[in-house]
Amino acid sequence: MDFQVSDKIQTIVSMINEFVDKELIPLEPEFMVKDFKELLPLLREKQAMVKKMELWAPNFPVECGGMGLSLLEHGLVSEALGKSPLGHFVFWCQAPDAGNVEILHAHGTQAQKDRFLNPLVKGDIRSCFAMTEVDMPGSNPVMLETTAVKDGDDYVINGHKWYTTAADGAEFAIVMAVTNPEAPTYLQASMIMVPTVTKGFNLVRNIPVMGHAGSDYFSHGEIIFESCRVPRENLLGAEGQGFVMAQDRLGPGRIHHCMRWLGICQRAFDLMCQRANSRVISPSGKTLGTRQTVQNWIAESAAQLAAARLLTLNSAWQIDRNGASQARDSISMIKFVVANTMNQIVDRALQVHGGLGMTDDTILAWFFRHERAARIYDGADEVHKTSLAKRILKTYRA
Ligand SMILES: Cc1cc2nc3c(=O)[nH]c(=O)nc-3n(C[C@H](O)[C@H](O)[C@H](O)COP(=O)(O)OP(=O)(O)OC[C@H]3O[C@@H](n4cnc5c(N)ncnc54)[C@H](O)[C@@H]3O)c2cc1C
Repeated sequence: MDFQVSDKIQTIVSMINEFVDKELIPLEPEFMVKDFKELLPLLREKQAMVKKMELWAPNFPVECGGMGLSLLEHGLVSEALGKSPLGHFVFWCQAPDAGNVEILHAHGTQAQKDRFLNPLVKGDIRSCFAMTEVDMPGSNPVMLETTAVKDGDDYVINGHKWYTTAADGAEFAIVMAVTNPEAPTYLQASMIMVPTVTKGFNLVRNIPVMGHAGSDYFSHGEIIFESCRVPRENLLGAEGQGFVMAQDRLGPGRIHHCMRWLGICQRAFDLMCQRANSRVISPSGKTLGTRQTVQNWIAESAAQLAAARLLTLNSAWQIDRNGASQARDSISMIKFVVANTMNQIVDRALQVHGGLGMTDDTILAWFFRHERAARIYDGADEVHKTSLAKRILKTYRA
């Protein structure tokens, strides 16, 4: 392991920390109460500042207009950005666009790159990824009901998806659909690019999640594909390779989430410590921080966060050196370890704030509502634990 951080990355991280503190955290009170669309003009201004600072799209390849950071370097940047829910969006490395850029870069034809990838990297358009279905278990995505049937030069797509994050306002969706029902299970599905203006692409609603339907980038769409016709040239990669490509996308995608969650852990931890030191709870002037329970929470959170950070950076380092498939165990581990660490630290920080923690006067309640999902998406905790344990047990059988 070698986590040496170059001077350049240290400078970048401190620039980002300063930007998040000065430019983004002050916008959060508005962000929490307003429709996201109302905030967009202001966020576009912040994005222009990021471009001027040459910190745009830190993890995208240089040849498509990004900074081309390694995963380990991006891990440090992403933690700094994750301290605010607006960080990744303003620096343009947000899910699901980041994952879509990666697969388009790896598998897109030149025409597809010109049409979809280049404007996406520039921030002119957004995208979404539609795999999970309402009536099928997302934990076993080979069980897909959505079909894409060839008809002349087109595919005709029918199906019912949901949790298509950021579909509202997206220019196109990458849709997972069964194209080869007779093939072996893992070779039945393909990825197809569908512009959201296509007839038959019906965004039924933004799903209310923890009491909030959201809008635009901060939303999760339910979509009915009804005889939705797109040209066959919109197929991404080879027919039947959808699951193989999804695995390529999900591995790095999972670590991206973990890196962002580390930022949430750090922010919640900072708030917890500040409150523990400042909240006076006795006439003699004693603060919350003098209580052993709170001290335990602080010490446990500090240790858990340090462990989660090291595990995540170690995974990034492994992926940079050997590729995502060699780092499978490590990725499974961090997915459930960091998600649970974040949930615990946010919960403790909220508890330390008492009634204030339940309000939207701090960011904690927002994190509590929106980040509970971390234990479900991109593989529920239980699924990662099962597959990790199976692989471990196999080595013992050998
Ligand atoms: C906020 C959010 C954003 C999302 N964004 C997207 C997106 O952009 N695109 C997209 O396609 N999908 C997205 N999803 C969907 C997500 O990937 C699925 O919700 C997830 O894969 C779980 O599938 P499911 O909801 O169908 O649960 P199910 O598959 O029904 O599983 C339910 C529960 O059963 C348990 N379980 C399942 N299988 C096993 C097993 N083998 N062993 C033990 N326990 C098991 C787990 O506890 C799991 O939580 C998003 C979800 C959320 C919550």
